[in-house]
Amino acid sequence: MKKIIPDDVASYINMTCDMDERREKVVYEDDFFICVKDAKHIDEVDYHYAAWCKKDLGSLLDLERKHVNYLKNIKSAIYQKFNLTDENTENFIHFPPSYWRLHIHFVPRPHITHVYHQLYFINDIINLLEMDEDYYRTHVFIAKL
Ligand SMILES: [Zn+2]
Repeated sequence: MKKIIPDDVASYINMTCDMDERREKVVYEDDFFICVKDAKHIDEVDYHYAAWCKKDLGSLLDLERKHVNYLKNIKSAIYQKFNLTDENTENFIHFPPSYWRLHIHFVPRPHITHVYHQLYFINDIINLLEMDEDYYRTHVFIAKL
């Protein structure tokens, strides 16, 4: 069975981890997200941050309008902390996901990815959820056909 959330991320959320490791890996945290250096993170130039949802949201399809502020917050927090901009950074949720726990990737632009994952960008997600909170529930599967 597929894992829902990586073991290390789960241990950071549950505080069952080594606290020194947590301090090193967790780069940002709020009520809704915990952002870690991803396993693919190489250095500060070729970075890869992943913001994992601390609540029980499985994917893009569970996002609602009430979550929009958390999306705005995590994006601006990570951008500020690491001097990122929309010009040099790609931020996205992919679907179908590799883990069924909502998470956002932050990687340098341009980013090459596998075609079997559809990428959904945070600015688009924010705009579309503000317009119609059922947008992804009603459009994602149709778009895949
Ligand atoms: Zn992912």
